[in-house]
Amino acid sequence: MSCLFCRVVSGELPAKKAYEDEALIAFHDINPQAPVHVLIVPRKHISTLNDVAADDEQLIGMMHRRAAAIARELGLAERGYRTVFNCNSEAGQTVFHIHLHLLGGRPMAWPPG
Ligand code: 5GP
Ligand code: ZN
Repeated sequence: MSCLFCRVVSGELPAKKAYEDEALIAFHDINPQAPVHVLIVPRKHISTLNDVAADDEQLIGMMHRRAAAIARELGLAERGYRTVFNCNSEAGQTVFHIHLHLLGGRPMAWPPG
């Protein structure tokens, strides 16, 4: 299995997990860009946001609701946080298994870099 996040999903690669259920897992980013940087990852392999099908709509919704739940658990709900999907090279996607970044714990600039 060559996909990095499929290897995390299978347990072959360790990760500091924040949440898991039958559809997705969430774990702390190995190179955090903010005091809180969690990745919400579906167990199903989907390469990029371009590859999300109609059947995956519920999964994408679950990822966002889970990001909000984790943000609340970590005390970010009221102060604020950011969620990001990077898609392909100009957005800086480096792992081609979709993941929602949850970033918080510091002020976020806009526009993003
Ligand atoms: P992308 O750039 O594709 O949107 O985000 C990939 C993210 O995965 C990066 O923030 C990177 O630090 C993180 N990452 C890469 N490899 C690993 C790993 O082995 N473990 C964890 N926890 N995060 C990783
Ligand atoms: Zn994968």
